[in-house]
Amino acid sequence: MMKKVYFITGSQDLYGEECLRDVARDSEKIAKYLDSKIDNVDIEYLGIVRDEKSCVDLCKKANNDSECIAVITWMHTFSPAKMWIKGLQLLTKPLLHFHTQANEKLPYDEIDMDFMNLNQTAHGGREYGFMCTRLDVKREVIVGYYEHDEVIEKIKKFLDVARAVDFSKNLNVAMFGSNMREVSVTDGDRVESQIKYGWNVNYYGIGDLVDLVNQVTEAELDAKMAEYKELYIMNTDNLDAVKEQAKYEIALDKFLTAGNFGAYTDTFQDLHGMRQLPGLATQRMMAKGIGFGAEGDYKTSALNAIFCEMAKGRKGSTGFMEDYTYDFTRGDEVVLGSHMLEVSPDFASTKPKIEVHHLGIGGKEPPARLVFDGVEGDGVAVCMIDMGNRFRLICASIELVKQPKPMPKLPVARIMWKLKPDHKTGAAAWIYAGGAHHTVVSTALTVEDIRLFAKLTDTELVVIDENTDLNKLQSELQMLDLLAKLK
Ligand code: MN
Repeated sequence: MMKKVYFITGSQDLYGEECLRDVARDSEKIAKYLDSKIDNVDIEYLGIVRDEKSCVDLCKKANNDSECIAVITWMHTFSPAKMWIKGLQLLTKPLLHFHTQANEKLPYDEIDMDFMNLNQTAHGGREYGFMCTRLDVKREVIVGYYEHDEVIEKIKKFLDVARAVDFSKNLNVAMFGSNMREVSVTDGDRVESQIKYGWNVNYYGIGDLVDLVNQVTEAELDAKMAEYKELYIMNTDNLDAVKEQAKYEIALDKFLTAGNFGAYTDTFQDLHGMRQLPGLATQRMMAKGIGFGAEGDYKTSALNAIFCEMAKGRKGSTGFMEDYTYDFTRGDEVVLGSHMLEVSPDFASTKPKIEVHHLGIGGKEPPARLVFDGVEGDGVAVCMIDMGNRFRLICASIELVKQPKPMPKLPVARIMWKLKPDHKTGAAAWIYAGGAHHTVVSTALTVEDIRLFAKLTDTELVVIDENTDLNKLQSELQMLDLLAKLK
């Protein structure tokens, strides 16, 4: 079933029933127009707020509808905002304040006071906006005529983020094993994650997965191997190792589907009963939009799934990533991002090759993995850290670039990117902010998407981009610490 968005219009009784009929007519027209332009959610006109009761009723209706991902409000006329207080206090859905009009141009020859009273977004939107600000309602304000393409584009972006917030609230994350021993930044407060973002993060013994691996049939395995041969270049004779990963993929699919999990973690320190660390298998799961975090990194795993949901329908690649090593050539610095196996084929710019190589960590058999070069383009690298008294998102604006030279001996998939405003500043800023080595990288999402996600989830955000100055950034970090203490 398609998710929906309710369109609610603000007005009042003062102007009479005829005026309210016009308000309803225009609201339906605008909601229908938005619905015709936006494919992935239904936009449904819900009604007019004319007093406190109608406001509370409509907000409750939106709250109670599990298919509703967001509410769009529009002040057609003036709508005294004291009647919005109770409703806004109750509202739990992401809110878009649409500051638009039924008319694009002023009818200069015809305009009279009736027209003025009917069409007063400029007036009513301010009264309503004050109350949202006074109540500290996290919302997006979009200004412009509803038929203008750039306005529609902004609404679409808001809805992508709202859909991701809704997805987050229902996200189950399976942890096979715990966090990698002694590692700090990947750890976090799972109870707080659930309170704040809705993530239900639970531990499972790897043996539960091993049981499913052992139940994989020859027919399932043959079908999976045929799929691999069609999609990838089989660059190994060790088909036995590839089959092992095929079993893991089948088992993971069953486990995650049965438990309605959208994300998972594993760790090379807890592979009892497995012959290999899942490599190819995890890459395949990530390609399906399943979130993954290595070494028990549940936060990155959840973010990965959420950002894949946000990016649905957009061009570009999104996936789990790790800052690995640098080329420090002065003025031409570049980050090499990869992982010991688990890089999403969503990042592939070349047809992935299935290869089997020794893995120095974990003490298991050489695992099969997909190896490829990465895509290029503008993107973001995002991580979430647990500051003890709050979570912090860090978002770097990056430019994914072509690798300067082939790396024939590197046995893993890789992408490369440049930092902003320059390598030294960008890397130092990330480190001052406490940023992790695990991130979600996306060329489908922008800093603005992450800003909006942070705003709607009331999460602290540090952005590193072309305007970053290290002194100002360190002051900003001090201010954020102070702010968190005051809350
Ligand atoms: Mn790692």
